[in-house]
Amino acid sequence: MKTAPHKHGFETIAIHAGQDPEGLTGAVVVPIFQTSTFAQEAVGKNKGYEYARTGNPTRTALETCLAALEGARWALAFASGMAASDAVAHLLSKGDHVVMADDVYGGTYRLFARVFDRAGIDLTAVDMRKLDAVRRAVRARTKLVWIETPSNPLLKVLDIAALAEIAHKAHALAVVDNTFASPYLQQPTKLGADLVLHSTTKYLGGHSDVVGGALAGEDAELHDRLAFVQNAAGGVPGPFDAWLVLRGAKTLGLRMDRHSANAQAIAEWLAEHPKVTRVNYPGLASHPQHALARRQMRAFGGMLSFELRGGEASAKRVAARTKIFALAESLGGVESLIELPLAMTHGSVRGTKLAPPAGLVRLSVGIETIDDLIADLAQAIA
Ligand SMILES: *Cc1c(COP(=O)(O)O)cnc(C)c1O
Repeated sequence: MKTAPHKHGFETIAIHAGQDPEGLTGAVVVPIFQTSTFAQEAVGKNKGYEYARTGNPTRTALETCLAALEGARWALAFASGMAASDAVAHLLSKGDHVVMADDVYGGTYRLFARVFDRAGIDLTAVDMRKLDAVRRAVRARTKLVWIETPSNPLLKVLDIAALAEIAHKAHALAVVDNTFASPYLQQPTKLGADLVLHSTTKYLGGHSDVVGGALAGEDAELHDRLAFVQNAAGGVPGPFDAWLVLRGAKTLGLRMDRHSANAQAIAEWLAEHPKVTRVNYPGLASHPQHALARRQMRAFGGMLSFELRGGEASAKRVAARTKIFALAESLGGVESLIELPLAMTHGSVRGTKLAPPAGLVRLSVGIETIDDLIADLAQAIA
């Protein structure tokens, strides 16, 4: 694509940004540059690549595309979402403080509470729906305000613009884990976030066949500090993994539209079901932050959770009986998944105030035919 990708629509960017036909052969698809090193013409003279931890053309294509999709100036790709989070944590020094939403991805909480605690990083978890609680939690040494919206597994929606403002007043960086929404549904840098984080394992990859992560942002100095960590600590994706995420991203818009439509239909169906006591989905008018979600997001995404009459026993029974929804951790792929967060993805917060209800069922709604998905849930809940 010969013109600036930011001028185009989302789907055009997804298919073309960073993905010009390859120079040597005209290959339309970015090749997998499966090499660890690059021959140099002379000492100090090369074509921009030296060693593949520092840079690889397949990864560059992915980073260019992800930046454009986020409407951000730059992106950096990592070996996993956690490797991306780890790079952000490496911006901190002993005595620094992090304010974190109280139902972030369990692995994010664990990274700060059980790895970076040993580096002297302090952590406060707060319910970020309450802006005053966040204002009270920030301190002189607060360097990061870590936001995740919609949240996992309760689908709470947080006000990115308001939280970024609080962070900036405290001279802290606002980081948004945008994994659940994907850049198609919300672009946090446009709302004031300094850093956007993705587990590209989820919607960006989209096919449950790769583990990856990414950061995106606007500030050049922040890019340089994080690119230094990326190279110095080395949590980079291999060329094939970068290629898989790049291929997945091409259809992100189409998939998110279908994920969102299917999840909306299922949420509405569950809300009417006599055995269902509660449904958490930002697309329902009954969701406490529905108006905020409408303002902040293009659509409401493919994740939802619900509770049943009979609690944990009923939840386990339903999870054992679905035939299309596979009982599995992870999310964001084309196939529908079902799980019990407390027993599976959120085991690391069991016994803490962050623990979700034992009877909560989480669905990652895929892009299968909606009638089949509803029929599957109907027979499982019956
Ligand atoms: C999965 C996930 C992560 C961690 O990403 P990995 O790719 O598994 O390392 C972080 N945040 C959210 C919201 C996730 O769903």
